[in-house]
Amino acid sequence: MGVPLLQAYRVGRYIAGRRLRGVRRYPLVLMLEPLFQCNLACAGCGKIDYPKEILQKRLSVEDALRAVDECGAPMVSIPGGEPLIHKEMPQIVAGIVARRKFVYLCTNAILLSKHIDEYRPSPYLTFSIHLDGSRERHDESVCQEGVFDKAVAAIRLARGKGFRVTINCTLFSGENPDQVADFFDEAMALDIEGITVSPGYSYHHAPRQDVFLGRSASKRLFREIFKRGRRAQHGGRRRWSFNHSSLFLDFLAGNQAYQCTPWSNPTYNVFGWQRPCYLLTDEGYAPTFRSLMEDTEWERYGVGRNPACDNCMAHCGFEGTAVNDAFSHPFKALAVSIRGPRTAGPLAPNPPITYQQRRLPAVTVPLSAVGRARRSAEVDRVD
Ligand code: SF4
Ligand code: SF4
Repeated sequence: MGVPLLQAYRVGRYIAGRRLRGVRRYPLVLMLEPLFQCNLACAGCGKIDYPKEILQKRLSVEDALRAVDECGAPMVSIPGGEPLIHKEMPQIVAGIVARRKFVYLCTNAILLSKHIDEYRPSPYLTFSIHLDGSRERHDESVCQEGVFDKAVAAIRLARGKGFRVTINCTLFSGENPDQVADFFDEAMALDIEGITVSPGYSYHHAPRQDVFLGRSASKRLFREIFKRGRRAQHGGRRRWSFNHSSLFLDFLAGNQAYQCTPWSNPTYNVFGWQRPCYLLTDEGYAPTFRSLMEDTEWERYGVGRNPACDNCMAHCGFEGTAVNDAFSHPFKALAVSIRGPRTAGPLAPNPPITYQQRRLPAVTVPLSAVGRARRSAEVDRVD
């Protein structure tokens, strides 16, 4: 299936309009975080490490829809926390659909069967269901048994009621490419529209730091997975549909030397407009969308520009870059979409490191403290 024509046309028209007007920075997907509270505590989650009074905060319907209007992006992704915990989520979603924006409602699906009848199937609404792998892998990733089975049951229920459904898969260290390929087959067999996939961002707020992939490991892993997809197609098995541009997939396979464009996925949450992106949570907030776009020091962020960005290959930073590149080089994008990402040959270089490397202070410290410092430096840079 892939992205429906209506969505491809509307989003394409929006981008073409911005580019014709010479707009240098424009939003593509609004990341709307209506709450941080969740009913899971996944090992790689960087969103739930807040005190109780913050976890209990909710964006109001008015605030959420004001952010949608202020931003103007044609697509809205609603992550969290767990959005289905928010009592006014059906009104927020209905308001976005009424504006003819494409909304991806992200959920771990535990509450979906309870709330599904509060939503109406629409070409503008997609349930994006968190599924990181096969039963064993997913339940390990979300640190709770039985969640995979609930998610699969919810996918079947939502498809049976005529909803658009994608899965949102984050890959971590220790993935086996054969198992990931089998899982993609399994997911496509559930009649989903497509797979959203990226390597997990190494949140320093996450409960576990040993789960994240470094940049080179991510590229090698994606090459191995895509190789298996190609072989499977030739063997007559199911094709995988990804909810991504062809050039983003090529970037994941290490063939594009992209820099992040964080303004393409601006984030609004209970604190305001988060600078600079969905993933970095300690860089402050802007009072308005305009201030976010105009006053953020964007040149401080991106691979090689900021240590916190060095291992990032997330779609919220690089899908916008890939889409822009596809508009600038349509034949390159077409060629990759026909033949698939290249899975051999040299990797494209990473952007050069331009930030000041940290220096250890020249003071005398006990040996035990040196050991601690080294261990914490090791988890700083996962690659
Ligand atoms: S990753 Fe998603 S489902 Fe897991 S704890 Fe975080 S918000 Fe909840
Ligand atoms: S590379 Fe971009 S998306 Fe990733 S953490 Fe840095 S600013 Fe955010």
